[in-house]
Amino acid sequence: MRIGIDLGGSKIEGVALANNGEELARLRVPTPTGDYAATLAAITDVVTQLHRAAGPASSVGVGIPGAISPDSRLVKNANATWLIGRPLDRDLAVLLDRPVRVANDADCFATAEAADGAAQGANIVFGVILGTGVGGGIVVGGVPLAGANAIAGEWGHNPLPWAAGNEHPGPPCYCGKRGCIETFLSGPGLTLDHCSMGGEDISVVEIVRRAGQGDAVAEGALRRYDVGSPALWHTSSMFSTRM
Ligand SMILES: [Zn+2]
Repeated sequence: MRIGIDLGGSKIEGVALANNGEELARLRVPTPTGDYAATLAAITDVVTQLHRAAGPASSVGVGIPGAISPDSRLVKNANATWLIGRPLDRDLAVLLDRPVRVANDADCFATAEAADGAAQGANIVFGVILGTGVGGGIVVGGVPLAGANAIAGEWGHNPLPWAAGNEHPGPPCYCGKRGCIETFLSGPGLTLDHCSMGGEDISVVEIVRRAGQGDAVAEGALRRYDVGSPALWHTSSMFSTRM
């Protein structure tokens, strides 16, 4: 039996899988935002509860919104910023008394889709995540491509290509630069664009709903986002609720 943990900025979700892939137990708890020690404790608690429900596990793997630096062996590039600079894999290994593998969550997602999901059978896979942030992973022959800096496939913090005059230098990004793709293409980016044209500070789902009702500001935000035909705007199913 194996345990997989998805450590996100707002929730921690764990699943216990039998060796044949069957789901034995699943659990979701809120992430203690901003508190590293409490985050470690919450992950340990999820693993303990999954053990109780499904029996002892042979391994634990954790997907995180960031990466372990090949140089420092510490977390970097995490939009869950309280993880940055921490030896997350080693701290969890001590607490759980076993080796713990930590990997980038986009790499985990792309690897899963390449194995038995939407990209099953494809030799080279680029998995894209659009949500609170913009991320991605590349999988070649079923193996995630980490790259020398453990950020292969990440494209959210490149400059927006072909920026129009009013898109340059662009909004400030948490990474310290301006005009990153993530500041335009993410859920918060779409909301920011809606606000910049006089709209309210509302969720993407609400922007889509208002556009479907003919709200001109919301329609304009979706046109600039270029999400296809207005006929699609009556449904919010094209957007993840995580945006
Ligand atoms: Zn950035």
